[in-house]
Amino acid sequence: MTPSSITILGGGTAGWMAACLLQHHWPGTMIRLIEGSEIGIVGVGEGSTPQLKVFFDTIGVSEAEWMPAANATYKVGIQFEHWSQKPGYERYFHPFPTALDGHSAGQLFRAARLRRSGLDVQAHPDDFLFPGLLAERKLAPLNPENFPLEVSYGYHFDAHKVGEVLKGIATKRGVEWVDTRIASVEMTDDGEVAALIGEDGGRHEADFFIDASGFRALIAEQALGGAHVSFADNLFADSAVVLPTDVAQGGPECATRAIAMDAGWRWSIPLTNRTGNGYVYSSKYIEADAAETELRAALGVGKDVEARHLKMRCGRLDKSWNANCLAIGLAQGFLEPLEATALHIVLVTVEQFIKAVDTDGLGPEARGPFNDSIAARYEGIRDYIVAHYRCQLRRDTDYWRDNAAHENLSPSLKGIMTAWFTRQDLTLEVQRQDIARYYNAVSWHCLLGGYGNFPQKLEKPGEDVHLPDMYRIDDFLERCAMNFPSHNEALKAREAR
Ligand SMILES: Cc1cc2nc3c(=O)[nH]c(=O)nc-3n(C[C@H](O)[C@H](O)[C@H](O)COP(=O)(O)OP(=O)(O)OC[C@H]3O[C@@H](n4cnc5c(N)ncnc54)[C@H](O)[C@@H]3O)c2cc1C
Repeated sequence: MTPSSITILGGGTAGWMAACLLQHHWPGTMIRLIEGSEIGIVGVGEGSTPQLKVFFDTIGVSEAEWMPAANATYKVGIQFEHWSQKPGYERYFHPFPTALDGHSAGQLFRAARLRRSGLDVQAHPDDFLFPGLLAERKLAPLNPENFPLEVSYGYHFDAHKVGEVLKGIATKRGVEWVDTRIASVEMTDDGEVAALIGEDGGRHEADFFIDASGFRALIAEQALGGAHVSFADNLFADSAVVLPTDVAQGGPECATRAIAMDAGWRWSIPLTNRTGNGYVYSSKYIEADAAETELRAALGVGKDVEARHLKMRCGRLDKSWNANCLAIGLAQGFLEPLEATALHIVLVTVEQFIKAVDTDGLGPEARGPFNDSIAARYEGIRDYIVAHYRCQLRRDTDYWRDNAAHENLSPSLKGIMTAWFTRQDLTLEVQRQDIARYYNAVSWHCLLGGYGNFPQKLEKPGEDVHLPDMYRIDDFLERCAMNFPSHNEALKAREAR
């Protein structure tokens, strides 16, 4: 049975996304979103995964309707720069999973395995996969109708503007918006949430509640006492400093850049009207002022542009769904933004919640498997992020040396690393662990091979070794690229519609 009324606390991106999805799937449910607008939103989540495209397709909103309004650009993946000091591996591209790469991924796997076994074989992932080529050439991932191979993509966007767009859609479709600051949570005798009480005295009841109140986690942690499982002992970043720059010459890129710094990394997120930049760092290794100075120097930006400092708490709630409340967004958990997965998790959480309730109702029989599945997703994504830090090949500061040395790895990640470094079949290991739903074998090959985690001493392959035909792969990728339009032109066409 679906809830007859739902109250969402929080009008950040998470709250409005949930409102749109719940309204779409359960049109008969009364949905209210409460937001203390004077509190504001965190407003820095500006890069997505392809799940955001799925979201807009699901709720029936076209790119022309939302992209220009949110200064959005296309995103085909993430370029990692300077995470390795091994010559030839200073950068690599982590693409979103794309059907087109199915044509060459097998060759990448074979080349990497030969290279791991000590043979002098070309095995840099960028040489085998397509989206990095789109990024390099600033081409939009929009295949024409007569080219049937699709490239999956996400977006970059202005978080405040996308929130406004979602609010407009949700309220137009019947979601009630209440602007008030919630002062307390009223509980029932059996430990459920009865109502949210506003500072103005208003009492807001519902059958079910969504906590999207950001890092405060007002309902899920403060009222329901949910336990926070910290990831601080294997993800060191706890702070960020953010500042904008102009759009890159020649128009916005169609990829995020993740560039290594002294005590962390900085993102470069291209929008149509500005580039968002943020240095994600560990306060144990660098002071906030020094981080800001390092970021300004890297960007060539003076004190006239204001910087914003943020604290982050990496970890997740023990149970995302507790009693009659589902936590989403920063209230639910946070993984540092290296793979830009926060909104992805919001969307997956809400979709899975709807499915669980539709199948098993609102009782504990739905809750248990749901919470296990969400926890596993956090941990699967966390492991991939930890793997970046553990397998990078930079040794110039304590930060990078300590990251490379720390041993607090999950059994799953240990299994992946063992398979890679002992020359086993990594694809089989990903299958054996059933973790491709978080990151597939292509992603793992990109991460481990992209940093150049191969033996140094190499032998020439013998005549009997069947090598990938690099000419054919290159030719295939080049010819595919000819079908895609310029990123700039594609963005202009969106605006014109
Ligand atoms: C440095 C950094 C970089 C990030 N980069 C990315 C990225 O690239 N990609 C990505 O997907 N995610 C990223 N994220 C995460 C992303 O910003 C968030 O997941 C996303 O913005 C959703 O936030 P939210 O809606 O949960 O919380 P918030 O934006 O903080 O919203 C909280 C809401 O709750 C309301 N509220 C709080 N308390 C009360 C109260 N007492 N009464 C009434 N209302 C209340 C506030 O008014 C606000 O509307 C990043 C986060 C950080 C910190």
